Amino acid sequence: MQNLTAALAARKQQQLYRVRQTLQGAQGTQVRIDGRVYLSFCSNDYLGLASDPRLVEALKEGADRFGVGSGAAHLVSGHSYAHQALEDDLAAFTGRPRVLLFSTGYMANLGVISALVDRHGRVFEDRLNHASLVDAAALSRARLVRYPHNDMDRLREKLSRVSKGMRLVASDGIFSMDGDCAPVAELARLATGHGAWLLVDDAHGLGVLGEQGRGWFLDQLPAVPDNALLMATLGKGLGTFGAFVAGSEALIETLIQQARTFIYTTAPPPAIAWASRTALRLVREGDHLRARLRERVQYFRDGARELDLPLMASGTPIQPLLVGDAGAALRLSECLRAQGLLVTAIRPPTVPEGTARLRITLSAAHEAVQIDRLLETVAACLEGDSLAAR
Ligand SMILES: *Cc1c(COP(=O)(O)O)cnc(C)c1O
Repeated sequence: MQNLTAALAARKQQQLYRVRQTLQGAQGTQVRIDGRVYLSFCSNDYLGLASDPRLVEALKEGADRFGVGSGAAHLVSGHSYAHQALEDDLAAFTGRPRVLLFSTGYMANLGVISALVDRHGRVFEDRLNHASLVDAAALSRARLVRYPHNDMDRLREKLSRVSKGMRLVASDGIFSMDGDCAPVAELARLATGHGAWLLVDDAHGLGVLGEQGRGWFLDQLPAVPDNALLMATLGKGLGTFGAFVAGSEALIETLIQQARTFIYTTAPPPAIAWASRTALRLVREGDHLRARLRERVQYFRDGARELDLPLMASGTPIQPLLVGDAGAALRLSECLRAQGLLVTAIRPPTVPEGTARLRITLSAAHEAVQIDRLLETVAACLEGDSLAAR
């Protein structure tokens, strides 16, 4: 039996220990922790919808109509009108024939990949893919083939070497820890040309990018071929909870029959699905929110450039500052916290060794003065840290 206490102590020593913090009130640009109010730059609530009163109202209405618990899995008796109506709304929104809801994005990725590829197949994944896509490949027991970040030549090479068995290419649409985008149209061409499925995880694109907030995948691939699947989550830009997969009739039917993370789990509370319908309407009508968000991103990048902060190549609301060393990233995050600013340090194994960073996320709800305060404080903390290191 392994000594857990010793392993935990070693983790602490390596500056890799993780702790939770408890929010006393609602999610937002200002959050209360231990009685103190912090300015937060670390949620994925990009449009500021998570605590929107219209969503709160919709959730209450959903609870009045459908109760709280779904009571069973979708295939037993847990599939309610609220779930069905949300699936129909999402199919209309994405322009895809059908949509299937999953409880979480993590489960959607596990369910899709393990339903489509077995141990005789191969899954091709970008090196920087989200952990859920990597875990999904492990669950399928297929051979996992990883290609360098967004390197389409290497992917083509690797695809060319295999001509038998089920093949699936999976990529984040927007890379969750880097904020840059995958070349979705090229991915689709390669997958189609090599007889492979393509799964794009648009968790950070839905609601945030594209016309009416349809996301990066649909923005880049308006005519979606049947081998290309869209997965997106509802807990980020939409501000609620859950996830969905959109695709052909046959694909969705296959997932209903075979996706174990869909079959063997209780359906999410129908009131959440009901609230997600309202969130989807707010997203569709949210061009002003997306315009504001783009402005904020530009404002942040201009200010960071002026201060010579280590920006990464991202045009999305995910704006990491590359620090490198895990300890330094943690110190920076702690310095900000002491000044009342909440930004998470992202360390290995979430990101590759030597690329620890501060993951700043912007929201349409942030004010310019709040971004000023962030920039000034980051610059002061970095300055103090380098002085201390001398
Ligand atoms: C957040 C995230 C997920 C997981 O979605 P949940 O609904 O939170 O389980 C999957 N993929 C990516 C890229 C994500 O950022």
